[in-house]
Amino acid sequence: MDIWNRPPVESAPPGAALFAIGLDHADDLRVRCGADAVEAVLAAALQRLGPAADPLAAPWRSGPDGLQWLRLDLPDADAARAAARQLQARLPQRLEADPAEAVRLSWSVGVACRSGRDPADAGCAALPRLQWQATAALAQARRQGRAGVAICDARLACQLEARAQVVAELPQALARGELLLHYQPQFAVDDGRLVGIEALVRWRHPQQGLVMPDAFIGHAEEAGLIDELGDWVLHEACRQARRWQRLGLPRVPMAVNVSGRQLQQARFAARVRAALAAADLAPGALELELTESSLLQQPEAAARLLGDCRRLGVRLALDDFGTGQSSLGLLRRFGVDRLKIDRSFFTGLPGDPTGEAIVRLVVELARTLGLEAVAEGIETEAQLALLGRLGCHAYQGHLRAVAAAPPQAEQALRDAPAGHRAGPWARAGGGAAYTGTP
Ligand code: C2E
Ligand code: MG
Ligand code: MG
Repeated sequence: MDIWNRPPVESAPPGAALFAIGLDHADDLRVRCGADAVEAVLAAALQRLGPAADPLAAPWRSGPDGLQWLRLDLPDADAARAAARQLQARLPQRLEADPAEAVRLSWSVGVACRSGRDPADAGCAALPRLQWQATAALAQARRQGRAGVAICDARLACQLEARAQVVAELPQALARGELLLHYQPQFAVDDGRLVGIEALVRWRHPQQGLVMPDAFIGHAEEAGLIDELGDWVLHEACRQARRWQRLGLPRVPMAVNVSGRQLQQARFAARVRAALAAADLAPGALELELTESSLLQQPEAAARLLGDCRRLGVRLALDDFGTGQSSLGLLRRFGVDRLKIDRSFFTGLPGDPTGEAIVRLVVELARTLGLEAVAEGIETEAQLALLGRLGCHAYQGHLRAVAAAPPQAEQALRDAPAGHRAGPWARAGGGAAYTGTP
């Protein structure tokens, strides 16, 4: 049987909905009950959904585990969702592999809707675009577990378009030198001396201007482009750190954000070593920032690779601490040097007792474990004063310096020499200087 049957039309008018329907855990079923039994279920599903006599109303096979179906009578997402639930109930619910043991089946459904109410939906949509959206919605439905339903609404469609654009353009962006790093300094809470600097990637897009990392890092990870991007960031950040050292600027660690996907490459530590060697930078001048979720993707492999990096002499920081699982086991297993407290905890501070209690706890935890606590996103003198009272070691934030291109970052490094008191805390015209006494 041709499992990639062609859809009956090439485009769909407003009011149409395309359903991507997938048999849940089809591979497990093939192993357990045989490929023929699964094929028979899919054939039965086709028959139950539509009359083969009317090709326009009939579903078609799509891929090894599913089918697709176009309906022209569903004006909005609510109607499409209700139709998805109804069709789940019409599909085969059992597979009679062995008469003594009927196996229960479930189906997940992703729907691409063309509401017809949204001006963006005016006119006909090409079927391949709807199939692409419905398939992405099916993947989302499957993440909900068995028998999920997900609709490709405007938000998901937007994400898909953005990802497709990143996938298409990022490789050339790297080659054309459109990526660049901005740098944000980190300061000691007690006396304001410079204690580190973080490299943050940006994309100077020819049409969109400066694109921030949240708009492309996730897509680059999903599209398998993060290794190349991460390598470029590592090399460029190490080169810049060495350049600043040669200019006689304070020798503080350069922090580089590392994605979880990068830790899935067996040669990650070798790549770090190569970047250090190419820049002639000592390992102690590099810090890798990892999030808890990235460490949890493949904890065994990550522990081994990061252990290798630490043995090289590279420092490790746990980024956005408090937003993930905040697993204490992680701290033990990975032996990090610094905990970076996520900036979301500081938005209501001072004055938010829960936020304050969390920050106090993390600072205390870091102190007990002999780690440094670094506060992210410090924007006010009052927040800084609070950090002083809590005994937090370091901070970064707009209060003192935004992430900036190398020339401005260099100026910030000159203004705050490491190991010296860094002059008044307040920016020009700002409030009173912070004394640093807890
Ligand atoms: P992050 O590593 O937690 O970086 C801190 C983010 O907070 C940066 O945003 C920084 O500009 C911003 N920030 C710092 N101080 C303040 C403040 O006082 N107020 C506010 N509102 N924001 C502040 P950015 O540069 O947009 O980076 C966002 C995230 O993108 C980073 O979060 C990091 O997770 C990721 N990222 C950036 N560069 C890279 C990279 O080279 N590789 C990877 N894998 N991820 C990166
Ligand atoms: Mg970071
Ligand atoms: Mg962070």
